Amino acid sequence: MIIALLGNPNSGKTTLFNQLTGSNQHVGNFPGVTVEKKEGAIRGQKNMTLVDLPGIYSLSPYTAEEVVTRDFLLVNKPEAVINIVDATNIERNLYLTLQLMEVGVPVVVALNMMDEVRQNGDSIDVPLLSQNLGLPIVPISAAKNEGCEELVQRTIEAAQQKDRPRGLDLCQGEVHRAVHSIAHIIEKEVKDAGLPSRYAATKVVEGDPITLSKLNLTDSEKEIIDNIVREMETNLGTDREAALADMRYDFIANACKDAVKKNGNSRELQRSIQIDRVLTHKYFGIPIFLCVMLLTFFLTFNVIGALLSDWLSLGIDGLTGLLDQALTNLGINAAVHSLLIDGVCVGVGSVLSFLPTIVTLFFFLSILEDSGYMARVAFVMDKLLRKIGLSGRSFVPMLIGFGCSVPAIMATRTLASERDRRMTILLTPFMSCSAKLPIYATFTAAFFPNAAPLVMIGLYVGGMVVGVLYGLLLKHSVFKGKPVPFVMELPAYRLPSAKSVVIHMWEKAKDFLVKAFTIIFMASIVIWVLQSFDTRLMMVSDSSDSMLAGIGRFIAPVFAPLGFGNWISSTALLTGLSAKEAVVSTLAVLTNVPDTAQLSTVLGSLFTPLSAVSFLTFTLLYMPCFAAVAAVKRELGSARYAALAMFAQCCVAWIVAFLVYQIGGLILGV
Ligand code: GDP
Ligand code: MG
Repeated sequence: MIIALLGNPNSGKTTLFNQLTGSNQHVGNFPGVTVEKKEGAIRGQKNMTLVDLPGIYSLSPYTAEEVVTRDFLLVNKPEAVINIVDATNIERNLYLTLQLMEVGVPVVVALNMMDEVRQNGDSIDVPLLSQNLGLPIVPISAAKNEGCEELVQRTIEAAQQKDRPRGLDLCQGEVHRAVHSIAHIIEKEVKDAGLPSRYAATKVVEGDPITLSKLNLTDSEKEIIDNIVREMETNLGTDREAALADMRYDFIANACKDAVKKNGNSRELQRSIQIDRVLTHKYFGIPIFLCVMLLTFFLTFNVIGALLSDWLSLGIDGLTGLLDQALTNLGINAAVHSLLIDGVCVGVGSVLSFLPTIVTLFFFLSILEDSGYMARVAFVMDKLLRKIGLSGRSFVPMLIGFGCSVPAIMATRTLASERDRRMTILLTPFMSCSAKLPIYATFTAAFFPNAAPLVMIGLYVGGMVVGVLYGLLLKHSVFKGKPVPFVMELPAYRLPSAKSVVIHMWEKAKDFLVKAFTIIFMASIVIWVLQSFDTRLMMVSDSSDSMLAGIGRFIAPVFAPLGFGNWISSTALLTGLSAKEAVVSTLAVLTNVPDTAQLSTVLGSLFTPLSAVSFLTFTLLYMPCFAAVAAVKRELGSARYAALAMFAQCCVAWIVAFLVYQIGGLILGV
């Protein structure tokens, strides 16, 4: 049995999904967190699958993720739908409910956030509302796990009894006439297309292009329909979409009139308005955001994360030492010994020690996100982004890009216009992802130990600035036209829940650990093999005679004008394409340092401070890892475009690093 979970963005779908299935999906306090459907078995029930879908406001989709939801409903035909309704925002949420009623699947309304309703001193007469709507309603609080069992029971009943919503006639007067006459005309085509008849008729009245294209209407039918709609429009004095929207809102207002008692403006709302006066202030909004980020970076890189990372690397070095000793004592073959110590331990260890830094960064970011602040930042950024031809909506994917480009590129599905979407996909890789952190940390420790947070912020901001310039370039060449207006619901400020912060941190840690022990592990072995043998597969005593050195020397001239034309850094950049952390592990393996702390000193012989900056600039900007490239290709829908985009990005990286090195050289006089 398949149960679909449907509701407005940010109404608590994922919270309920996690509650019912016991899984740990990412919950966030801003719209657009779930962009793909997720499935899970309901706890304590046999053969019941719950499907979490991206949030939608209505069944007329505007964005790619909304299409996922609507198609699931119409094509997969779930046995029942749980329609989750945010009770603090009930009128707007019921708009979707009315449309679901037309589809003809059993619907159970889960009236969520009842805890907040109670806190505000509001009340909802559930039996009366249920009667007015003709639907079963279960009041719940997903976050507090109240009412969830009853909800499951009611849903099972509804599904088994095929408890379709009673055919309440929502419409009256003109709209009623139009819907019913059109339903009659298109009866046969609707049956052929396998659509619910009531739903199809309303969609045709609305003029929904997707539904119209699914129905094979004859020319004469189209003409009759046009006439009916035009008559309705003239009689009502509004257009077709507005006519239906008015009708639905009238119905909702009637249904809620006696059932919902509101106690003036809710406390939550008033508090949110007050906080917003400061945080989204016309002039202070952006400076406040910068200060928040500065504090986050300072705490992560200088205080908490750095300390924990130091401890961890001490532990790793200790373990490596023990293993080294054990292998020597056992008299293991020298090549295997070297592979394990100089390859695996050094490579994986050099990356692993950054785990605490990354987890700490995500601790802060998920608190900012869960509290609802990040949605405000999107709003504050709208004005800036508009200058490069994007809307504030694009900020959300870019923000996710600071974590990892792959989900960020997927999150562009929440953008309404294809133009905005493509442009955001091209700009997101310029936002420095967390995998690059180990590289920055290693180099700042080696060359600028006293200015670590400053260099870090310089890199992050540098990436954004280059992104902005690249955006301007795109706006005036490939992507002419205007961004869509900024529409995003600002969620109420909420205290971040410990559970969702922990989930977020654990997800990051898991991704990182998996990467360290798969991709980085493999890369370290491959690098060790390539640097230990020459082309005749003879073991070399000096790694500069190895196969790898040959490959590195072949591409090194490209980087000579950037100040790091040695084979070691070229090779590191190349392996960095598998995962950015591999840049660090490759440097560690190739310079053959026994412990991670000494990597800093060895780097001094390969780079000058200036060429280190140039190297960091290049790593910041050059093409993302293969996983992100695959995501770009998938979302742009064309390998050619993706290849072009990646080539362009490498060119940008080369040019900027070149400028940094050459201009820096002029200024410093070296
Ligand atoms: P989705 O976008 O519909 O999947 O919504 P989420 O599950 O991501 O939740 C959105 C926000 O609402 C999160 O900040 C949740 O912590 C919060 N939330 C969800 N359910 C409840 C509830 O029953 N009560 C309260 N007070 N907050 C809730
Ligand atoms: Mg969700």
